[in-house]
Amino acid sequence: MSLLTVTGLGKHFGGVKAVDGIDFSLNAGELLALIGPNGAGKSTTFNMLNGQLRADVGSIQFQGKELIGLEPREIWRYGVGRTFQIAQVFLSFSVVENVQLALLSNDKKIFAFWKKASAYRRDDAMALLEMVGIANQADRPCHQLAYGDIKRVELAIAMANEPKLLLMDEPTAGMAPKERNALMALTKELVVKNNIAVLFTEHSMDVVFAHADRIIVLARGRLIAQGTPLEIRDHPKVQEVYFGTGKTFEKKETT
Ligand code: ADP
Ligand code: MG
Repeated sequence: MSLLTVTGLGKHFGGVKAVDGIDFSLNAGELLALIGPNGAGKSTTFNMLNGQLRADVGSIQFQGKELIGLEPREIWRYGVGRTFQIAQVFLSFSVVENVQLALLSNDKKIFAFWKKASAYRRDDAMALLEMVGIANQADRPCHQLAYGDIKRVELAIAMANEPKLLLMDEPTAGMAPKERNALMALTKELVVKNNIAVLFTEHSMDVVFAHADRIIVLARGRLIAQGTPLEIRDHPKVQEVYFGTGKTFEKKETT
């Protein structure tokens, strides 16, 4: 049985069918990319999965439970996590404190006790930082970190909830190509090691083709193709929506 099964999912805004009846599924151990031109319905799909938006029609089965109609918090408790940007106010906290705060909030402890709780699950927080490769920066304030390392802290924070499915909407936005590849390689490693599933959106086709196990392609709210990177690269409908008929994806190295 799939971890996630989406059937006939749809959402409109006024006359715009942002997502128009899509079907896909996702298994544990899979890194699935959701791609498509601007306005294709990627963010709308994400926000229906995490409960920020309520679907008009369809079904989202997660481990056999229907998610449509649940509050974001309930969906999160079931094990559907998402990455968030670290809020400005938390950038002054150290790297490890940010992860400790995430653990504290998962354990539903009261935030006001934080000042007395700087030792709170520090070992677990350090293990999470180890997992994302920045344990050596644990005691630095977040605002001193390189952008790529901040993204790693955000990943550690998302993993603190031990999600079974992690949603990442444009996780590498604003990063240099080398950092993008490193972050997605790390994400793939976490998927395999923890046997979780990740659904992510990404603009760079190089990154998608290099790291995704499978790709689904949206255009104007419809799912027009799904398959392995190789299958998608050669898919005529995909080439058409991105480049117009006849053109193919270019490899970065050859240009
Ligand atoms: P993507 O993330 O693929 O760029 P979106 O899901 O953000 O696409 O948007 C899909 C379509 O729905 C677009 O036409 C967009 O203008 C429209 N849309 C998205 N969110 C809203 C909203 N809150 N109100 C009205 N229209 C929206
Ligand atoms: Mg979007």
